[in-house]
Amino acid sequence: MDTDLRSLTMEELKLFLKSLPQGRPEFSRTTAPADGGPSSRPTDKPPLACSSGSLLEFRAAQIFEWLHKHCAGSFDDMTNLPKVLREELKKVASIPKIKTSKKLQSSNKDAIKYLFETDKATIIESVWMKYSYGSAVCVSTQAGCRMGCVFCASSASFSGSLPAGDICAQVYAIQRDLNERVSRVVFMGCGEPLDNYDNFLAALRCLNSKQGQNIGQRNMTVSTCGLVPKIYALAGEGLQVTLAVSLHAPNDQLRQRLMPIARKYTVTEVLRACKYYGDKTKRRVTIEYALIKDVNDSRECARELAGKLRGAMFHVNLIPFNRVNVERGSTIAKDFLPADKESAENFTHILRNSGIPATLRRGLGEDVDAACGQLRSY
Ligand code: SF4
Repeated sequence: MDTDLRSLTMEELKLFLKSLPQGRPEFSRTTAPADGGPSSRPTDKPPLACSSGSLLEFRAAQIFEWLHKHCAGSFDDMTNLPKVLREELKKVASIPKIKTSKKLQSSNKDAIKYLFETDKATIIESVWMKYSYGSAVCVSTQAGCRMGCVFCASSASFSGSLPAGDICAQVYAIQRDLNERVSRVVFMGCGEPLDNYDNFLAALRCLNSKQGQNIGQRNMTVSTCGLVPKIYALAGEGLQVTLAVSLHAPNDQLRQRLMPIARKYTVTEVLRACKYYGDKTKRRVTIEYALIKDVNDSRECARELAGKLRGAMFHVNLIPFNRVNVERGSTIAKDFLPADKESAENFTHILRNSGIPATLRRGLGEDVDAACGQLRSY
């Protein structure tokens, strides 16, 4: 099977190049022949010249730049590679493509939802979002999601995890379409990034690479529903990305109603892992909380949440619950409504008065099903 080159990190790409048949030296030095002919001659098989040393580094950097900086779609685009290497790559490797199948802009133009189709006919959703400080792209890491959160349309189906190259390609395609550099990436689209840990991490490293788009780690956020062992693993990767944890309830009883993962990990265990991540990375962890009318938006919930978050480096993002299209979304979510303005503001004030930094966010892209909880793969 062809190796998907865009899914390889720089280190993996070097290993891949080393594994290729290298051929013989381009010119065989010979002693001058008696008849006075040339002292060197071309061989029938020119070298790939990328088995080790600085040439290997050089070739890997060239290819990586083509894939992640210039977003090349074919090996023929890689004009500064020797033809023999391009031909060899064509035989053993591929550059999977994604094409835009739909593009929907929100009425106030602050969000654009993209539907991309991969070579394998998988549909991926991504969202470009405009903020006062710039724009960000929300990428999907899976086609659908198997975590089953009842308020989220992504949980309606699951058709697989995305390779790293398809995660990166979402950023490159939006960048090309809008003709603007993407400087912030949030791993918050369809899927649970930590359920696709290795591919998510490889994508993050490729996007962050100086030989690629050089998107700063501090400008990246990864969202999880609370896969506790993976939060500890991520804390040990030596990264500086922001961790956002979807909590959505202050206690286990309520959280288990909303998120099946809560049956596996308690609120206490999730918050302990978040605190560890914050201590280890010195990054403030974001707690995501979607306010659902008469479900988790009461003053009691706010006080209970404040009590659990006190004393650690957390910031709470309060998001108005976004209604999902019930035809396509979870069956339970159809009963849910967004919290009204007054309870959302009360909730925010209770947290702030308890010393917990909290922001009540505006919804983005709800009219094109591009807001939090509304994405799914079709
Ligand atoms: S909220 Fe996140 S983890 Fe839960 S179903 Fe949706 S995409 Fe998956």
